[in-house]
Amino acid sequence: MAEQIAIAKGVVARLHPGHEAELSSPVVVNWSKIPFNLGPWPSYGARGGQEGHIDDPAYQLLNTPPTGRVYFSGAHLSQMPGWQEGAVFSAQRTLGLLATRVSQSVATEGRRAPAAA
Ligand SMILES: Cc1cc2nc3c(=O)[nH]c(=O)nc-3n(C[C@H](O)[C@H](O)[C@H](O)COP(=O)(O)OP(=O)(O)OC[C@H]3O[C@@H](n4cnc5c(N)ncnc54)[C@H](O)[C@@H]3O)c2cc1C
Repeated sequence: MAEQIAIAKGVVARLHPGHEAELSSPVVVNWSKIPFNLGPWPSYGARGGQEGHIDDPAYQLLNTPPTGRVYFSGAHLSQMPGWQEGAVFSAQRTLGLLATRVSQSVATEGRRAPAAA
């Protein structure tokens, strides 16, 4: 951890000379040791496809749960799993799916879907 902090201070010193001292209370997180995270962001690996081309079975399943009434959203379920933009894309996708389901319900049943309890 001390080495990581020293490296970070060195980078700040190179980019903004003289400001490295402002890094006075640094925090270092070893994401691989955080329970349930086990890393800073998901990696589907070579088998699952690279960013923009992810087609891992887990990715497909979580994006289309079998019940049809459960929706998962998050950067991990986008084609940009390590970025905030991916989280926004995923949320937009989920909202689109919900809107489609509600509008189909209105069209076929002539009423709005019941509100969630
Ligand atoms: C070290 C690091 C650096 C990064 N740098 C960048 C960057 O520079 N630019 C960038 O665009 N992205 C960056 N990212 C990625 C970015 O932070 C994520 O892609 C983004 O936050 C994912 O958003 P999300 O809404 O999918 O998930 P999250 O932001 O993880 O939100 C999920 C939320 O759900 C909550 N939650 C979990 N379980 C439960 C539960 N059972 N009940 C209730 N709440 C629960 C969590 O507490 C959390 O608040 C970085 C990530 C890390 C770790």
